[in-house]
Amino acid sequence: MSDMDGQRQNWGRRALQRLQASGWLIAAGIVAMIAVQAFSVLSPLVAPLAMLGFVIAAMALPLQTGRADMDHDASAQGGILPQLSAEHLAAAVTEPLIVFDQTATVVHANAAAISIFGSITAGMSLPLKFRAPEMQALIEDMLTGGVSSLAIDYVEKLPVERVYRVSASAIGHGTGLYVLVFKDQSEARRIDRMRADFIANASHEMRTPLASISGFIETLRGPARNDPAAREQFLQIMQNQAGRMARLIDDLLSLSRLEMKSFHRSGVRVDLRNVVESVIDSLAPLAKDSGLEIERNFADGALEVPGDRDELYQVFENLLENACKYGQSGERVIVSIAPSTKGPEPGIDVTIRDFGPGIAEEHIPRVTERFYRVDVETSRSQKGTGLGLSIVKHILTRHNGRLSIESELGKGAAFTVHLPTN
Ligand code: ADP
Repeated sequence: MSDMDGQRQNWGRRALQRLQASGWLIAAGIVAMIAVQAFSVLSPLVAPLAMLGFVIAAMALPLQTGRADMDHDASAQGGILPQLSAEHLAAAVTEPLIVFDQTATVVHANAAAISIFGSITAGMSLPLKFRAPEMQALIEDMLTGGVSSLAIDYVEKLPVERVYRVSASAIGHGTGLYVLVFKDQSEARRIDRMRADFIANASHEMRTPLASISGFIETLRGPARNDPAAREQFLQIMQNQAGRMARLIDDLLSLSRLEMKSFHRSGVRVDLRNVVESVIDSLAPLAKDSGLEIERNFADGALEVPGDRDELYQVFENLLENACKYGQSGERVIVSIAPSTKGPEPGIDVTIRDFGPGIAEEHIPRVTERFYRVDVETSRSQKGTGLGLSIVKHILTRHNGRLSIESELGKGAAFTVHLPTN
């Protein structure tokens, strides 16, 4: 059958349906026609023409009437929602969801609930599945308390600890069905804990130099009041402690600026050779004081990456400063820049290698954590804040880059920054 034939048949079927649907209109037309025929003095053609007009009107009208009927049906039934199966609705919810009845028996569990809490089948006893006292109490209170909703915190210990906010609600009025929804709060809790730890650490770091400064002020006012030599010595210590507080505040501000400022890939290309050269120049006095020689090993050709020059400067400054501070005994530091041969995407590697004491294997994964130091006293004596490497890591993440650390105790450490070139 050709397309044309098909279209014609469809049109015919629709016209018939419309004529059937507007039967009352046609009936009215026939009555009107008889009236016109009986009383009119006009031409006999008027009646058939009037009839034709009614039929055309009848075919046009049902379209509107049909839609109005649909709207009416939908609103009468409360929209399309009741046509959705409850199972489909539950499956569309990404959080674990369990429907249970008045006897605390499971009626339905969605896929998220089954994947997180294991097998939950209809007919299973809910209090037997969730034996934690807080869950038992929630189910009990829901079934007997006459309330429409309740919520508790529930900790699932295995396989890894996860914290959920579980809310229980009655479904509709008098259905005898209830629903439990589990909202995973673990990530939010972890962030809260990290924030609290961070504030505690930062306050502790501030308190130490502040306590030292206050102590020396008291000594200078009291026993050392008339001792010029002691006064000079104490003022020097107080100045060092004030410097330490200032460095800490600078690092904290750096971190908070990095967190506040969203990173836009501006398309600006940064010449890494140029940035690293500036860092080496600025740290030349520190290297000299530490008795270190800085060797360059830069590849030829373009060594450019997209990024923020100031932030990348901060990365290499922190790493080279650490190499000078902690790797003093090695007497030399090698800075190399080369196109990267490893990794899935093209990039450039900048490696800062020292020949100092190195870092024991167990500390390597933790040195980029905020305030983590292998040896607190050494870090403090080297004017460290414990925040340098966490700032480095933060900046590299913003640049889609990464930091790798290789070290062997007694032989030094190599910090490699990998930055993608695209
Ligand atoms: P800090 O301000 O203490 O230097 P960082 O975050 O820069 O803080 O470094 C964290 C810790 O990592 C340091 O306290 C030190 O113990 C260790 N570390 C960093 N760089 C080196 C290095 N080149 N050699 C040995 N240890 C290092």
